[in-house]
Amino acid sequence: MHAISDATRDTVDGVLAYARRRALWKDVPLDGPVSPEELAARASGSITADGIGAERATALFADVLAPTTLSIDHPGYLAFIPCAPSKAAIAFDLVVSASAIYGGSWLEGAGAVFAENEVLTWLAGEFGLPEGAGGVFVQGGTVGNLSALVAARDVARRRNREDVRADPPRWLIVCSSEAHSSIAAAAAVMDVDVVPVPVGADGRLYGDGVAAALAAHGDAVFAVVATGGTTNFGIVDDIASVAAAAKERDVWLHIDGAYGLAAMLVDRMRPAFAGVELADSVIVDPHKWLFAPFDACALIYRDPEQGRAAHTQRAEYLDTLTERPDWNPSDLAVQLTRRPRGLPLWYSLAVHGTEQYRAAVDHGIRLAREIADEIARRDGLSLVREPQLSVVVFRRDGWSLADYEAWSARLLADQRAFVVPSSHAGEPVLRFAIVNPLTTFELLAGILDTLA
Ligand SMILES: *Cc1c(COP(=O)(O)O)cnc(C)c1O
Repeated sequence: MHAISDATRDTVDGVLAYARRRALWKDVPLDGPVSPEELAARASGSITADGIGAERATALFADVLAPTTLSIDHPGYLAFIPCAPSKAAIAFDLVVSASAIYGGSWLEGAGAVFAENEVLTWLAGEFGLPEGAGGVFVQGGTVGNLSALVAARDVARRRNREDVRADPPRWLIVCSSEAHSSIAAAAAVMDVDVVPVPVGADGRLYGDGVAAALAAHGDAVFAVVATGGTTNFGIVDDIASVAAAAKERDVWLHIDGAYGLAAMLVDRMRPAFAGVELADSVIVDPHKWLFAPFDACALIYRDPEQGRAAHTQRAEYLDTLTERPDWNPSDLAVQLTRRPRGLPLWYSLAVHGTEQYRAAVDHGIRLAREIADEIARRDGLSLVREPQLSVVVFRRDGWSLADYEAWSARLLADQRAFVVPSSHAGEPVLRFAIVNPLTTFELLAGILDTLA
């Protein structure tokens, strides 16, 4: 399995040939799932005592397994938040896999860690964070939010120790009632509670609501979370007033920008994010709107030392690493072993430069605006809300959830697009999440035609 032979050479060539085909596939089919029974009938039996060989295994994947996975990079994939990696990023992901790099420590992965840090420093600058800000690429926004919140609680606990003050019976996180489900998930893992603050009529969290929650709960609150682009609507909280309320009480401010913070790359969008520069921690998912492959979340601390104090694992077998003054990414989040998952983004950024990223993000924002105007023009369709970023939520007048679901299934069966119903205030709605620079107005208008 490990020696280099004609057989291993053929295996690598065959796999790379498939990867090349897939990465450069011009009109990649959308594809879609089948039942477990159908896959069992068509694909079971691959794990045997003697192996089925590379040719058969590759063919099984290419012909049977891959076609039952959705192509998230298809321009018609508009559900949830799409992933549309640049070709450079995809190609470099193969290099990361081939290179056996341990991305957890400087000792083992110096060059890779350096390159990842170049990206994190650039992002921190875009978000207005001061020099010295830094972090780590983790698996996804859920792990990023959890890691940031663990650091926030650690800071609050240490402060209590220093002031010889008891910890509260229950620690609390203050966030918007529209915050992403991963905040509640993090709270559950941490065994803390969430105080949801109602949003304004515009769906945004404001500082006055946060201030009231902080006044009511005092020192039990260890973090305030503002969302830089909600998943369902792409709404950006009023971060400046939320930040002011948090700072007033010296509470950690975390910005969940998993989807939306990428929009800060577009100059005219920056005012909508005022206040991000005050954050103690932020996250953004490059696998969402920064054109990196699954899976990568950039977690950035204003003061990385606070992340380090909370997360560094200590053990006799790790002393060689932790007793050095090195920059060790493992020390900054809930993880130890890590793939240098920021490298595909680093490579693509290095190849293309930042201007192309700004333009690619801007495409989504402009297209959302154009298709929203088209929806408003069409009889029988109406916007639920004006888009702020690149998510457009709308309704087909008179349709029930069952109508939407049947339509969605037909759209996928026709291999035209993947759009699933969402809901807002109990009403089923439709939602386009536009990330892919290959998604066009014509494609979206064609989808609207099928709603007639
Ligand atoms: C997607 C998303 C998350 C979770 O990120 P994962 O990478 O899916 O774990 C968190 N917050 C927001 C606002 C998101 O859009």
